[in-house]
Amino acid sequence: MVVLQNLKFWNHQIRDFQIKDFEVDVTTEGLGQKEIDCSNFIALPPAVDLHVHFREPGFEHKENMHSGAFAALHGGILHVLDMPNTNPITDSTKAVLQKKELSSKQKWIEILVAAALTNYNFDEIEGLDSHCDAYKVFMSESFGNLSISYKNIENSLVKLESIESSKPIIFHAEDPRSIAESKKENTHSKKRPPEAEAFAVQAVLKWASDFPSLKFHLTHISSSLSLKFLDLIDSTNLTSDTCPRYLFLNEDSNIPRLYKKVNPPLRKISDNNRLIESLATGVVDMISSDHSPHTLAEKEKENPSGMPGVQELLPALLTLVKNMKIEWDRAIEAFHYLPSKLLNLETDESLNSFIVLDINEPFRVDKSWIKSKAKWSPFENLFLYGRIKHIVKNNSLIRM
Ligand SMILES: [Zn+2]
Repeated sequence: MVVLQNLKFWNHQIRDFQIKDFEVDVTTEGLGQKEIDCSNFIALPPAVDLHVHFREPGFEHKENMHSGAFAALHGGILHVLDMPNTNPITDSTKAVLQKKELSSKQKWIEILVAAALTNYNFDEIEGLDSHCDAYKVFMSESFGNLSISYKNIENSLVKLESIESSKPIIFHAEDPRSIAESKKENTHSKKRPPEAEAFAVQAVLKWASDFPSLKFHLTHISSSLSLKFLDLIDSTNLTSDTCPRYLFLNEDSNIPRLYKKVNPPLRKISDNNRLIESLATGVVDMISSDHSPHTLAEKEKENPSGMPGVQELLPALLTLVKNMKIEWDRAIEAFHYLPSKLLNLETDESLNSFIVLDINEPFRVDKSWIKSKAKWSPFENLFLYGRIKHIVKNNSLIRM
């Protein structure tokens, strides 16, 4: 046993910090200490990341369950939801079970599995519902057979309603017609304009009101145009998230051009500011990373869309707290309580699992800190707050 002394831990009942000693088990061998002075650190609930691509099976050269989970752990995350654009695509019970088996080989964190709703797997839905943790809907053109027509989305929703599904349905909201109309534009951000996202958001809002028993979620909201529609609604069955990249980065950011390509695209600095405000007020409910790593060689050759981000997720948000853009209780809702509720996870009020971090000293994102196989980050050289010092998982200490 070891005692974490003088730890300022977050008490969500009173929405404030309190000081306490914690006695925990030790898993790291050779730890001679009986006490660890934590008076400079704070303890928070672990983060939940509802949008990662750990690339296994099929693309293990980019990332795998083990390396992705290790990066998540170093970012203070104990639960992630993995997306279905792997090879094979996660669109059947068999593929979901295969992915669960692969994910169970690492013990760092819990990896939940999202199944795709596609034009081809309507008959699988009933079986899928007892095994997957969520559904992912790619509304626009995407990898392989993953995209689905609006008509087939509606058919799938009817089916999910009839089987009383409680699994969240997560939408990548970009409208395929708007993207087709912008095909001739010369930059990536103009090819996938804010209007494409806003049209798709409106379609999802309509479905959410037509299917009140189902749980809808809009992931990676990128543009202030979409916020105009989210601002107006007050539905209990629709939530949304945005990612640090849409809060910190924009078309004009001073980072390598290759690093910037992602879907939906980076927008303007005014979008960064509006999204931060919306996260602070709760118009946007939560955050996710959309961790979508590629190797640097791939980025340099064909520049596929996507960037890493799982390890940066929580420090990026905590940097906004530190800079007084977001209140503590809103931030904790956004990285822990609301994503836990969305993913049907039980929240641990007994403090068996928590993260211990340094909120006073900023650290520079550099290659030695990055644990993802990608070994690069669009946040490289940025100073962030919230370096993870220890993780307590089921009462056992993991020293970072
Ligand atoms: Zn994604």
